[in-house]
Amino acid sequence: MVSAPLIEVFCSAQGEGPFVGVRQLFVRFAECNLACTYCDTPLGVREHCRVERTPGSGRYELIPNPVEARSIGEIARSFGRVHSIALTGGEPLLYPEFIRGIGTEIPLYLESNMSLPEAAAELRDRVRYVAGDFKLREAVGEAYEELRDRAVRCFRVLRSSGRRYTFCKLVLPERFDEDELVSAVDELRGFVSMVVLQPVWGVRHAPGELLRLQERLLELVDTRIIPQTHKLLGLR
Ligand code: SF4
Repeated sequence: MVSAPLIEVFCSAQGEGPFVGVRQLFVRFAECNLACTYCDTPLGVREHCRVERTPGSGRYELIPNPVEARSIGEIARSFGRVHSIALTGGEPLLYPEFIRGIGTEIPLYLESNMSLPEAAAELRDRVRYVAGDFKLREAVGEAYEELRDRAVRCFRVLRSSGRRYTFCKLVLPERFDEDELVSAVDELRGFVSMVVLQPVWGVRHAPGELLRLQERLLELVDTRIIPQTHKLLGLR
């Protein structure tokens, strides 16, 4: 029996990246191995995981933690036709065994900080979509160099292929080193189908700056500017 501590399980529309709007089951893991400056996710293991049985209702059933992996497919099916199961956090790659234990034909959509390459390797034949973060120096401080190396290894092992769609999400704080960002994308571009520039919620960059950055990155890889749309709609 494989289980993991979860914060919540709910059905909603994906709010970020190229799959914005698809209906997904979200599985939010309770722990993370990083502490990004802009993190707004409530983390930490609790006694119960909350499950929203009616999407958007704000009413929850509490189930004991840790939650069994094999129960996830059954919960997903109870929400009708979902595009995929979004594994989010926290950091899903802390629990590769749990992810492998989700026995369902529904595709898995991994949202990861891409800092755990060994766990990524365990899942290379299991995940269909990868929404991988690349953390800028401004988000992780002194850990940047090491995390950059780990991210490159993760993207390499989970790269886009005929069986997997992988994109890189760059969360943009108010200020960041543009040249360092471009150099990182240059290193990753062989592994991803797209780069998404996503401003930190509430931060307004000058439109001209964003478009100039996009123009530079388009020389390397398909690049889109996409904000967090679920927050615009009041979705989770
Ligand atoms: S990787 Fe994600 S969950 Fe973890 S600290 Fe950073 S923003 Fe928060």
